[in-house]
Amino acid sequence: MTQILDGKSLRNQRIQEMIGRVNQLSRPPHLVVLLTHPNHASSIYVKHKQQACQEAGITSTLIEKPCRSTEEVCELIHTWNKDTVDGILLQLPLHPNIDQQKAINSIPPHKDVDGLHPENLGKLVSEDPSGFIPCTALGIQQLLIHYQIPLQGRHVLIVGRSIIVGKPLALLLSQRNTQANATVTIAHSRTTNLSSLCRSAHIIIAATGSPHLITKDMITSGSVIVDVGISRTKNNKLCGDVDFENIAPLAAAISPVPGGVGPMTIASLLFNTLKSAEQR
Ligand code: NAD
Repeated sequence: MTQILDGKSLRNQRIQEMIGRVNQLSRPPHLVVLLTHPNHASSIYVKHKQQACQEAGITSTLIEKPCRSTEEVCELIHTWNKDTVDGILLQLPLHPNIDQQKAINSIPPHKDVDGLHPENLGKLVSEDPSGFIPCTALGIQQLLIHYQIPLQGRHVLIVGRSIIVGKPLALLLSQRNTQANATVTIAHSRTTNLSSLCRSAHIIIAATGSPHLITKDMITSGSVIVDVGISRTKNNKLCGDVDFENIAPLAAAISPVPGGVGPMTIASLLFNTLKSAEQR
């Protein structure tokens, strides 16, 4: 029987576990979400984040202010870097005129709950646990651990090399500890032998945004499939990078879209915000 890696129920469980820790604090953790380039998808993601914060007892403030220059975004971050704020989340993507890395760099690292500041990425490289781990990478690791998918010594293929998902995930899963210790391969748009890499992997994690890139003929029976991608079909239905319908019967375990990695990304954002509040 194929195991469904249900991120939605694990998200709910993790939120319940966090409530006790939130209640121990002198004031609730406070997350500020900066939406500087509003669009339909970003607005939905932000709504899900705020809803989860509310469930966990975390205060969230949404600042919706369209910005068209890097300076404007940096100024907005500066304005919200208040003592009463534990986490600052800059919702991506930004307006194309904006230098994304420069904007992220202006978030104080100890409030960078998305984990994308170079200081936090550096801590991930050096395996320093005081940093914030990027939310999607952390969520995927938690999902695999919860469903008792062993990582140690396994060949994990990550398809996608973005700074938001693929690269931090490769660093996290190859860390030197028993919750990782995987042998990681990264594939990307210039990879020439994707099918054979997929067939040699115990675990495939697809994070490309290319709908149904991973098909039945590319996988070995019994492998574990994690689908990070979020796209829309012509009929406006959500779909991932994986042909779920045809692959699920062959896989040992598979995450659905929606309801797999997405909710775990949000649980990790709350986890990082709580960690920041506990460290203040
Ligand atoms: P990105 O566009 O920054 O990176 C995509 C990566 O995929 C690139 O490294 C590219 O080289 C690779 N790629 C593209 N087409 C490929 C192909 N045909 N073969 C091999 N590699 C290919 O995107 P991103 O920000 O990393 O996001 C990837 C997907 O994950 C998107 O659909 C995004 O919406 C989704 N996402 C989901 C969550 C979540 O919580 N579920 C979080 C972040 C991103």
